[in-house]
Amino acid sequence: MPVYSLPDLPYDYAALEPAITGEILQLHHAKHHAAYVTGANTTLEQLAEAREHNQYGGLVGLEKTLAFHISGHVLHSIFWRNLSPEGGDRPDGELAEAISGHFGSFDAFAAQLSAATVSVQGSGWGVLAWEPLGRRLVVEQVYDHHGNVGMGSVPLLVFDAWEHAYYLQYRNVRPDYVARLWDLVSWADVQHRFAQARTTTAPTVTG
Ligand code: MN
Repeated sequence: MPVYSLPDLPYDYAALEPAITGEILQLHHAKHHAAYVTGANTTLEQLAEAREHNQYGGLVGLEKTLAFHISGHVLHSIFWRNLSPEGGDRPDGELAEAISGHFGSFDAFAAQLSAATVSVQGSGWGVLAWEPLGRRLVVEQVYDHHGNVGMGSVPLLVFDAWEHAYYLQYRNVRPDYVARLWDLVSWADVQHRFAQARTTTAPTVTG
């Protein structure tokens, strides 16, 4: 019984046009995201086999592969719901206040998240996250799906900077793709995640 499964998109493949073409979204969801789901399940099976035979010669690779695929599955599952055909504009209420409080202003936050997404070297993500120990919002620049992340951080808004997310449409001009993403952000979804994240208990470091 597979542990992970591919979630349906909350909209049609063509729903985010013209910002993101239906062709890109279909490939991205049905091929790329699906591969992370399959990869996570397959790696769990391989780890179970390693335990069964007490053979850990390939463990370093399996652990790295597990982190890659689970994180890819998590990030894409959030990404689809962060976006909406009715998205755009700016957040309001508690999220808007927290963004201003932690980044100085919405514009300063948006500039940092855009820069973090555009400047990823190779493949990765720009992420707005809740850091539960400091109880603050932070922007993280994630490599692949799982590198450069603070332990315990909860992703709230994620921008996919992998070439598969934009190259068929935007070619090498990643900044244009990132600029269009802002027009799709569902702030209601981000606000919902923000409210949930703040109920999370901080990692205990003091015992
Ligand atoms: Mn992707």
